[in-house]
Amino acid sequence: MEKRRIAILGSTGSIGRQALDVIRQHRDLFEVEILTANNSTDLLISQAIEFDANAVVICNEEKYREVKEALDPHDIKVFAGMQSVCDLVTGDNIDIVLTSMVGFSGLSSTVAAVKAGKTIALANKETLVAAGRIVMDLAARHSSHILPVDSEHSAIFQCLMGSAGAPVEKIHLTASGGPFRTWTREQIAKATRAEALNHPNWSMGSKITIDSATMMNKGLEIIEARWLFGTPGDKIQVVIHPESIIHSMIEYADGSVIAQMGHPDMREAIQFAFSYPYRLTLDNRKLNFAELGSLSFFAPDAEKFPALKLAYESLEKGGNMACIMNAANEAAVAAFLKERIGFYDITRVVQECMAGADFVADPDLDTIFRTNEAAFAKANELIDRIAGGKSL
Ligand code: MG
Repeated sequence: MEKRRIAILGSTGSIGRQALDVIRQHRDLFEVEILTANNSTDLLISQAIEFDANAVVICNEEKYREVKEALDPHDIKVFAGMQSVCDLVTGDNIDIVLTSMVGFSGLSSTVAAVKAGKTIALANKETLVAAGRIVMDLAARHSSHILPVDSEHSAIFQCLMGSAGAPVEKIHLTASGGPFRTWTREQIAKATRAEALNHPNWSMGSKITIDSATMMNKGLEIIEARWLFGTPGDKIQVVIHPESIIHSMIEYADGSVIAQMGHPDMREAIQFAFSYPYRLTLDNRKLNFAELGSLSFFAPDAEKFPALKLAYESLEKGGNMACIMNAANEAAVAAFLKERIGFYDITRVVQECMAGADFVADPDLDTIFRTNEAAFAKANELIDRIAGGKSL
């Protein structure tokens, strides 16, 4: 395998830090070219020095001077602002772009990298939720490979390897069920921020952890799978698997089911996206089946977790509906994290936004950006009403 040069967008977040740990174990195979962060200057600076990055971008322009002064003696270039991210990812010195920034904000830089024909290690699922058709069309046109980093999608991708063209009957998308799997609807309604942030299996950032508690994360993943693998929504089925050992499965038309397994550790999926089609060593915990004993599976509870239904609906509706759903969810999760609204208000805001939004059947990228902004504003209006004790 030839050495691969990597840009990590969002290097100070959970996925970014785990990606750097993968690179730390394979310094002969991977080279860090670009690191970007929104606000975490101290960590960005120490990462840039440790990995001798070519350039870094601090998205918050007010923090430029601090980063610049720290990295100048190390001969590391420093830029500021989102536009710099979009410019730098197109450079000839980049082979792989890991998109591990949070939410819709990842779309413009991902599109820039796709148009430059880069290999995308996709951790930012919101990109495909908001603009799946557009991004996949661009990827095909510019010969950009999009490799999944989401553990379920990496699993599906691996289960499909060596079976090109074989008829797929179903994708079985596994879900841990999150922290509220065994709670009643009444208990969930009163869930606090701290309780929702307490994920049983996976260590992740706060946005995705709340998404896991509402199961909107699984909803977003249904849509992500639809675009990555071209599988229609009615062939993507969610199954609750609390142990998170099986990361997802493919059922072929002959009834044969292929599963991909491992202990929950995001570094596996990150590393495979970096090394594909090769497999490397990793210092992770290996499975001991005799110790595991058994694995369990349940159907998801649509009453307790209405987000799943909203996701299927948005997929069926098509157009900009998933973008509306995603924007409303981002606004509502941010409000829940600030303790302005309750747990079920998150999906309530999403549902209201989807019902009242301007639907566009065949949106272009500009329409997607406008849709995101409008849905975000609409959601914030609803959030203000809820926080102010008014009815919707
Ligand atoms: Mg996932």
